[in-house]
Amino acid sequence: MNLVGHLINGEIVTDSQRAQDVYNPSTGEVSKQVSLASKQTVEAAIAAAQAAFPAWRNTPAIKRARVMFKFKDLLEQNADKICALIGEEHGKISHDAAGELQRGIENVEYACCAPELLKGEHSKNVAPNIDSWSEFQPLGVVAGITPFNFPAMVPLWMYPMAIVCGNCFILKPSERDPSSTLFIAELLKEAGLPDGVMNVVNGDKEAVDILLNDERIKAVSFVGSTPIAESIYTTANANGKRCQALGGAKNHAIVMPDADMDNAVAQLLGAAFGSSGERCMALSVAVAVGDSAADALVSKMKEAMKTLKIGPCHDDNNDFGPVITEQHQHKVFGYIDSAEEQGAEIVVDGRNPNINGYENGFYVGGTLIDRVTPDMDSYKAEIFGPVLQVVRVDSMQAAMDLIDDHEYGNGTCIFTRDGEAARYFSDHIQVGMVGINIPLPVPVAYHSFGGWKRSLFGDLHAYGPDAVRFYTKRKTITQRWPSAGVREGAQFSMPTMS
Ligand code: NAD
Repeated sequence: MNLVGHLINGEIVTDSQRAQDVYNPSTGEVSKQVSLASKQTVEAAIAAAQAAFPAWRNTPAIKRARVMFKFKDLLEQNADKICALIGEEHGKISHDAAGELQRGIENVEYACCAPELLKGEHSKNVAPNIDSWSEFQPLGVVAGITPFNFPAMVPLWMYPMAIVCGNCFILKPSERDPSSTLFIAELLKEAGLPDGVMNVVNGDKEAVDILLNDERIKAVSFVGSTPIAESIYTTANANGKRCQALGGAKNHAIVMPDADMDNAVAQLLGAAFGSSGERCMALSVAVAVGDSAADALVSKMKEAMKTLKIGPCHDDNNDFGPVITEQHQHKVFGYIDSAEEQGAEIVVDGRNPNINGYENGFYVGGTLIDRVTPDMDSYKAEIFGPVLQVVRVDSMQAAMDLIDDHEYGNGTCIFTRDGEAARYFSDHIQVGMVGINIPLPVPVAYHSFGGWKRSLFGDLHAYGPDAVRFYTKRKTITQRWPSAGVREGAQFSMPTMS
């Protein structure tokens, strides 16, 4: 059976000791295995990155950026292959995989601005004949740990910028869908990246623990679930590493009584069920303000959901595909069961998806649950499946309080025609990414991405301008070249310009 390996110092290698099955979620079959990195393999990756660092650090930023220009071309030329690999292991439909890849490419485009982004700051004559400037220096070897749900895009949030900033990178992708991530990283060699600058170790907790405990790793970027994000952040910090750890989400959309309801339903349909709800920005809760808005929303949504097409990844007519594993499929079913047991109303039930010819795939049908209350388990947890829950409240303030009280604060949205309400909402809501009549307010590549509360541990957000700060350290230099023969005496008071 095909074994997915690691990319170390420009070569694909495999470990013989441990491997894990990789499934095709559309069919439910095991399609290949992924090699799980041993300590020796992770250390080989760190050593390769460490060895490549001095030369890469001294490579002019424009030359580093040129690698990214070529890389962008290669990503576009290989888009069909990449999307097919994403579909085979993740299950997302080709059109959705293409969107993911395009968002990733936009991060590569931003990384091409390295010479501009790394110019630093300069002040001439901060005192007579004294100039001062701040520069951004690379950290050294940095690591990224990424989730299954965006095997192309989330790694591309990290390493293009880390690399153009002069760092060397070790990526530990999700072991559940590793092939597209590895294939993309291999393209960097073709783009002209020197061996050792970019390395990929496939693996699990064992590989992550080695990265977190090795003092040669200077910074860690993590994206995944909140419990793991918190633990990685705590360990990385205790070990003196810079860390940004992005976690889970529960994204609410407020539906105001004045909203264009047909538009809100169409937007919610895509944002709740696209990618089977396996997006950290998926809208999983609709908070309807007033019973008449709630009744209209639920009846129109129920009707709209009749059009949903669910099936295997390769059929572009499908709206969404399976969830990632059988275990996750049962977890999602369990949340629907618990909502029903705790008194919610299952309006559309996705627990018996019948996908002709794909009976063993890990499908969950689109599910709509009304009259959900904040004490229910299905409300508190991130379900990460194609399940939209409706909570009824009687005012916009009650809707905002609900959102602010939730442990997560990744994304949110309001559907309204009232500019004043929208402005108040975006100004006060305790959430990091806000949409106004925009269901998935995922920032473009030149703004940074990050949630609030327990959706992000760390100060700097992912990609965009924050990534330049995260992957560099500031050095400020103050310089004077005394004129020949001019000597300054000792000065014992704090130097000032007064
Ligand atoms: P996960 O937390 O299970 O895994 C993420 C990564 O951590 C993987 O590489 C995995 O191998 C590794 N990992 C898992 N358990 C570990 C452990 N005990 N110790 C060390 N490493 C471990 O997440 P997932 O299921 O792959 O992805 C889905 C989650 O990611 C959801 O919660 C989703 O909201 C979140 N996510 C968040 C964002 C964001 O930007 N906030 C983006 C995408 C996904």
